Amino acid sequence: MTSCLILGGGLNGLFSAYLLKLAGLEVRVLEQAACGRESSWAGAGILSTLLPWNYGPDVNVLARRGRELWPVWAERLRLASGIDPEYRVCGMAVLEEEQRDAALAWCAAHGEVAVSLTEFPRSTPLFRGELGDLAHGLWLPEVAQARNPRLVQALRAAALRAGVVIDENTPATRLLTGNGKVIGVATPRGIFAADNVVVAAGAWSGELLAGLGHAPEIYPVRGQIVLFKAEPGLLPCVVYRNGHYLVPRVDGHILAGSTLEQAGFDKTTTLRARRELLGFARSVLPALRHAPVVAQWSGLRPGSPGNLPTIDRHPELDNLYVNSGHFRYGVTMVPASGEVLLQRMLGIATPLDAAPYAWK
Ligand SMILES: Cc1cc2nc3c(=O)[nH]c(=O)nc-3n(C[C@H](O)[C@H](O)[C@H](O)COP(=O)(O)OP(=O)(O)OC[C@H]3O[C@@H](n4cnc5c(N)ncnc54)[C@H](O)[C@@H]3O)c2cc1C
Repeated sequence: MTSCLILGGGLNGLFSAYLLKLAGLEVRVLEQAACGRESSWAGAGILSTLLPWNYGPDVNVLARRGRELWPVWAERLRLASGIDPEYRVCGMAVLEEEQRDAALAWCAAHGEVAVSLTEFPRSTPLFRGELGDLAHGLWLPEVAQARNPRLVQALRAAALRAGVVIDENTPATRLLTGNGKVIGVATPRGIFAADNVVVAAGAWSGELLAGLGHAPEIYPVRGQIVLFKAEPGLLPCVVYRNGHYLVPRVDGHILAGSTLEQAGFDKTTTLRARRELLGFARSVLPALRHAPVVAQWSGLRPGSPGNLPTIDRHPELDNLYVNSGHFRYGVTMVPASGEVLLQRMLGIATPLDAAPYAWK
């Protein structure tokens, strides 16, 4: 049986592992700490680009395919793991009047369902709260969300049940090469070897691949979020304005995000970000002035130029692959990226053209 080592147990590593296992491979994940505790845990779980008209086709095609696949995968993961990832289509209100007409035209041309918020029926829950005063802009009814910590737990459990072996607290420290291949992965617990190796180490992927030549440009971009606890139902949908967003969970938690910071691998949370996010959240939804702030956290996105991930075989090392660099949309793109990896490694056809995600 063909074997595969996956380096990194975030959403992209775990999903790659699960798909490859379902395709019949023997799969082992090496995770430096605990699975799904980095960017995949920290993200907001909006299953869309922000905003689709701000990106070119290569980013949107992968995100769109991810959006198509998520409903079925979320249900499969729920059934396989017994953990509900809280996938739901909640819609997204974009409160940016200036962009509205150009954005509506873009959506009409690209098959994205969008209506002007001014034409939206006033009886809907979106307008019951104080948000109504700001309700200019666009309504994207098809935008969905998932709850990141639950999603990674569901995926980890489903992968384990399918027979994926997961070694946590096992950092890959070096890739050992010979005869145009990776012949082993060094860790403090010894050397692991497999027919194929996939680097899915998020923001750390660039570092891990440095020294092998052709390392893709993948670097950490810090993002911070603050969490409110409000009454369930206070906010029915995702709200976006000027680079910030609110994301309501079913139990009343509301995330306000996020910052985009170049801080290396430093995951400190800052007072400045807290003020910025609280100011934004309370200006959009004044009822949040009375809601307690229960947490603040940061995560390191796997940044990449143009937000384009690399999902491909190494140009020179026959059995080395990467699935990383998803930057702001790694949750949205997970199932589609898994498909591209399967196409690259096993030749399994997908509706996607894999060329834009090639290892250059
Ligand atoms: C604040 C914030 C908000 C976000 N919001 C959204 C959103 O709304 N929608 C969306 O689609 N995306 C969002 N994202 C982006 C998304 O979270 C990421 O793109 C995605 O989670 C990346 O997943 P990953 O598996 O590639 O990386 P990670 O989740 O970072 O996983 C990489 C894993 O590799 C492990 N690792 C690293 N080095 C090694 C090593 N040497 N050996 C072994 N293991 C190693 C790490 O410990 C980690 O567990 C957000 C991110 C942040 C930070």
